[in-house]
Amino acid sequence: MVLPVTLLAMALLPGCSRKPFTESDFIMDTLVRIEVHGPRAETAARAALDEMRRVESLMSAYVETSDVSRINSQAGVAPVTISPETSFVLQEALRISEASWGAFDVTVGPLVGLWDIAGENPRVPSPEEIEDALEKVNYQRLQVKEGRAFLEAPGMRVDLGAIAKGYAVDRAAQILLDHGVTSAILDAGGNVYVVGSRSDGSPWRVGIRHPRREGEALAVLEASDTGVVTSGDYQRYFESDGVRYHHIFDPRTGYPARESASATVVSPSSVEADALSTALFVLGPVEGMNLIESLEGVEGLVVDAAGEITVSTGLFLTRVNP
Ligand code: ADP
Ligand code: MG
Repeated sequence: MVLPVTLLAMALLPGCSRKPFTESDFIMDTLVRIEVHGPRAETAARAALDEMRRVESLMSAYVETSDVSRINSQAGVAPVTISPETSFVLQEALRISEASWGAFDVTVGPLVGLWDIAGENPRVPSPEEIEDALEKVNYQRLQVKEGRAFLEAPGMRVDLGAIAKGYAVDRAAQILLDHGVTSAILDAGGNVYVVGSRSDGSPWRVGIRHPRREGEALAVLEASDTGVVTSGDYQRYFESDGVRYHHIFDPRTGYPARESASATVVSPSSVEADALSTALFVLGPVEGMNLIESLEGVEGLVVDAAGEITVSTGLFLTRVNP
């Protein structure tokens, strides 16, 4: 009985800081890292990662039985019954599509497939192929109601790549809270969520990656109980004739969006921040920042193609390194 008594004594010592529990795993095609402080850290962290895997199995286009795969396979044929969670994420996607005038479009699947940026055979398609794919991209032709979803035309495809990770992070954060966690940070490849404050009570400091200098922070912000999501052209791309073709498309042109190098959105809702970071990236500093400023409780930062930084009025940065 020596060991338990020692552990108990340590736990009761005032100001005794125990080591946080950290874990990393590959979920949703992304390296997810979690750091949890406090007494039930390990149990909480493992439950949070399990929750992200559960969301992945519902929403990944690569899982044959997922809601998304079933919607896509029935495109132009029949509505399919989906889980309330997928309904919620699709409704959020449609809300951001409307708000961004289609710069964010959850039916971008045909373009993603055509370019195959992150796949085996990425290539620059012909203008005719892009034209064909664009005919199948239109969020207004996705119906979501009464627990069912329907793509109106054959060949259309839902792609939750720009939003499902945000939802998974929201769920993971909720699981941590359910376990009584008051100090944690979760990073799903640029999809960051901070719970509470650091173990010494000071706010978490979240670094925003520099889009052109790997390993360097562009800016640092202090945050708690919020999502900080960054979309960048450096995450998945290939180069051809000196041009960088990356994975965030402008649904108005069918080509990778040209305005930005990276876009960051801060919101207590990570699902919203995820979708908006993609929208802000596509729209760029002028239109995109107008959108961010029009939304309650949302802040943002965008780096344009020339490296110029634009920050929303309510975002306070502790350090900037342009
Ligand atoms: P990441 O997932 O790399 O963090 P994003 O959140 O910006 O970055 O999501 C990019 C993914 O979203 C792409 O890989 C693709 O699946 C999808 N996507 C690309 N362009 C758009 C768009 N304009 N609207 C909605 N989804 C998009
Ligand atoms: Mg996104």
